[in-house]
Amino acid sequence: MAHAVKRLYPEVKLAIGPSTDDGFYYDFDGKNFELSDLEKIEKVMRDIILESHKIERFTLGREKAFEIMYNEPYKVELINNLPEDSEIIFYRQDSFIDLCSGPHLNSTNDVDPNSFKLINLAGAYWRGDEKNKMLTRIYGTAFFNENDLKKYLEFLEQSKLRDHRKLGKKLELFMLSDESIGMPFFLPNGQIIKNNLVNFWREIHEKNNYQEISTPLILNKNLWIRSGHWDHYKNNMYFTKIDDLENAVKPMNCPGSILVYKLNSKSYRDLPIRLAELGLVHRHEKSGTLHGLMRARCFTQDDAHIFVSQEQIQEEIKKIIDIISKVYKIFGFNFFIELSTRPENSMGDDLTWEEATKALEISLREKKLDFKINEGDGAFYGPKIDFHIKDCINRNWQCGTIQLDFQMPEKFDLEYIGNDNKKHRPIMIHRVIFGSVERFIGILIEHYGGNFPLWISPMQVKILTISEKFNSYAQSIQENLKKNNIRSELDIRQEKIGYKIREAILKKVNYIVIIGDNEEKNNIISIRTRDKINKEFKIDDFLNKLKKEILERL
Ligand code: ZN
Repeated sequence: MAHAVKRLYPEVKLAIGPSTDDGFYYDFDGKNFELSDLEKIEKVMRDIILESHKIERFTLGREKAFEIMYNEPYKVELINNLPEDSEIIFYRQDSFIDLCSGPHLNSTNDVDPNSFKLINLAGAYWRGDEKNKMLTRIYGTAFFNENDLKKYLEFLEQSKLRDHRKLGKKLELFMLSDESIGMPFFLPNGQIIKNNLVNFWREIHEKNNYQEISTPLILNKNLWIRSGHWDHYKNNMYFTKIDDLENAVKPMNCPGSILVYKLNSKSYRDLPIRLAELGLVHRHEKSGTLHGLMRARCFTQDDAHIFVSQEQIQEEIKKIIDIISKVYKIFGFNFFIELSTRPENSMGDDLTWEEATKALEISLREKKLDFKINEGDGAFYGPKIDFHIKDCINRNWQCGTIQLDFQMPEKFDLEYIGNDNKKHRPIMIHRVIFGSVERFIGILIEHYGGNFPLWISPMQVKILTISEKFNSYAQSIQENLKKNNIRSELDIRQEKIGYKIREAILKKVNYIVIIGDNEEKNNIISIRTRDKINKEFKIDDFLNKLKKEILERL
């Protein structure tokens, strides 16, 4: 692609162009590309493929590398950032030369000319930093054959239709504002979804003997120094001064929970102590990486910190796995699991790590769950299990995680009195199920394509009248629904019924109730479902059906 761009527009400067999980991109400077340019570029790419150029690797020292790239300021900057004595790797095809560590195919002709596509354009700051110049990024993808490309393009179409930012606007779920970049506002409809998720979450945690707490958003600097966040996480944190004291807005909930644990002395009989918190955290993310609800600068973690003894780890992990499986099942999510083991530069001794990792592994095996081991990918304070859910178009989202932590209890000198009457150090488990409640809602919007199941649906029923003669009957139906905690809206405008139905369908309501002559006379209602099934109901039967659907979270 870069070769083709240079052939078409020699004045354009090259920045970087890596491969990604689903294709590749390249950042260019010096031309305002438009979508119509992509076809032109694709055509030249096809020419280059068919010209069958050999792709050759060669290396140069720094000075020679500068010489060859003297006309490409971004490449010069990249070379400048490499260690002085490094051998710099280049690839050449025809007259086109680029910095690249490779590997590459042998010839441009090794690519199927019909199995790649340029997908999109976007602005991107050089090195992802908003202080730098905005470049143009061209995204593309490539496959081994045309059929796989076609399938992928269909998948992209599906994803676009489900884009939570578009649906969020259309269904009035949330909004974003320049007045608070990266921090979503929940609108009444979105708040209904959020509240129902949270109610469900509370219900399941109460049943499993968690205790809910909430801790302050702002905590002083010393605490963050002690927790290690000051050293490891400062660049992502927001700070504020109060009465000359330096404070941080919490990026994580752990230190707050620890202070609650430390309130009084604990005995082995108290363990496990399960402190759950829907904690609003703020993290500074680069503006270029923000993406609606999926990646924001503030969000609610459905957090819990569980304090256990060494012997309790396995049992507790199994319990958490049960909760997580149960929650995902409600939404129809399948999931897969990764177990991440000790990274380099981690804290703690080998034996503790080994035992903790073993405990996680045994818990997963006893639950008969498949998992993949990610060697060396654990947190610096302990091993972890990550849950990746698969949505209905097979995209993966990492949501739940269970992390074992031996370090925080050490740093904060946590203890409990054992049955030997001696002081012991508890182990801390950090875990989330949704991850971020807001992001989970983003995932649900795309998973359901806005067609929410009844229990979280903002608009469960819409009542439409055929003419104004039926207004009072329709109103009595609505009152009845309200008495039974069903969310409904009444449309008694003097519009054609077909128009009202179309509008209700666009709002993705679960049930459309139509009231006319027949319904009033027989004291019934006519229902139209999302699957366009029409059915008559006695109002009590309809209410029972809805209540069952909500109760069972169908
Ligand atoms: Zn935590």
